Amino acid sequence: MEKSYLASHPDEKGFFGTYGGAYIPPQLEAAFAEINEAYDKLSKSYDFLAELRAIRKHYQGRPTPVYYAKNMSDYCGGGRIYFKREDLNHTGAHKLNHCMAEALLAKYLGKKKIMAETGAGQHGVALATAAAYFGLECEIHMGEVDIEKEKPNVIRMQILGAKVVPVTHGLKTLKEAVDSCFEAYISQSDTALYAIGSVVGPHPFPKMVRDFQSIVGIEAREQFMEMTGGQLPDSVVACVGGGSNAMGIFSGFIDDPVKLYGVEPMGKGTKLGENAASLTYGKDGIMHGFNSIMLQTEEGEPAPVYSIASGLDYPSVGPEQAYLKTVGRTIVGTANDEETIDAFYKISRLEGIIPALESSHAIAFAMKLARENPKESILINLSGRGDKDIDFVVENYPVPEGI
Ligand SMILES: *Cc1c(COP(=O)(O)O)cnc(C)c1O
Repeated sequence: MEKSYLASHPDEKGFFGTYGGAYIPPQLEAAFAEINEAYDKLSKSYDFLAELRAIRKHYQGRPTPVYYAKNMSDYCGGGRIYFKREDLNHTGAHKLNHCMAEALLAKYLGKKKIMAETGAGQHGVALATAAAYFGLECEIHMGEVDIEKEKPNVIRMQILGAKVVPVTHGLKTLKEAVDSCFEAYISQSDTALYAIGSVVGPHPFPKMVRDFQSIVGIEAREQFMEMTGGQLPDSVVACVGGGSNAMGIFSGFIDDPVKLYGVEPMGKGTKLGENAASLTYGKDGIMHGFNSIMLQTEEGEPAPVYSIASGLDYPSVGPEQAYLKTVGRTIVGTANDEETIDAFYKISRLEGIIPALESSHAIAFAMKLARENPKESILINLSGRGDKDIDFVVENYPVPEGI
């Protein structure tokens, strides 16, 4: 029998076609080999999987529901819109799915600490949550500029018991935080685990994080079919920052005749620096230890990017997203700031759900899709809730009067 897509991708060196791999300093080769070997073994271990299943059910509150958004569907004039409610996962987004599993891996490896960088603080909060649950130390590297901008998340991490390390060099944002965390990890890799925040980084992280997120797609497929008398959706839509919530829901449908749309932030415009549409405008390149498609300056450096949603503000994407686009299995869509804010308010008013600005990109795109394809059913991964975004939104985009 032919192997399923997930069982045959990536190859054993971590490549999806030409994308992926592990471009790491020699001092970290042993640490990554240890993680790779352990994951290989644990992904087949009954005890590991049983513990993860129990955590998902009793602590995270899974399965999260699939919901038919009837008001939204009627408003768009046809296409039936469904949400996979990752906003109802503990901590309010999909990120905890892989953070709990990475922390469990750390426990099995006998590590005392989990560490990572964070940009807006979402990954930091999810990881600090997982660390508290497992009684592990947690060290989060964060640029000083981001610390200033994202105060509530810094406070959350501190309440949860994490140590936030301010990064003071360069632009003092995400890229420097990655460098700083990598450097700190080199001297502690025997007692700490680096827990990456998306399907990015060197092998085995893109595969591992995808596998940990695939629960979203597995649940959604079953739930959708149960609701519709055995049908599959015509399209599945998710926003793409690094690509973890998208890979999570795509995983459930990748061997099915279902269209898969990854939606990138078109921000303020099409020029370099005005958006973070890496798959749309990027070129092949290596950054942060893996080969993918990235937005680059003329010198081949990672370009400055912009997105209204800080979780999508990254100049590259996970290698599997690059691969699936290149072979034509996924379709890349975009939503700009204006469409995103419109979708944010529309679903708040029509459905009583305030979505994260990241997820609002997927919703904005799906609204266009529903209008153009009135007979189709569209399943959106609602990756997170929007409580974190409300202050920013109302300050910059006044609350509209009607729908
Ligand atoms: C971090 C985040 C994203 C983007 O990350 P992916 O790895 O692309 O999923 C999307 N939505 C929410 C709510 C997030 O917190």
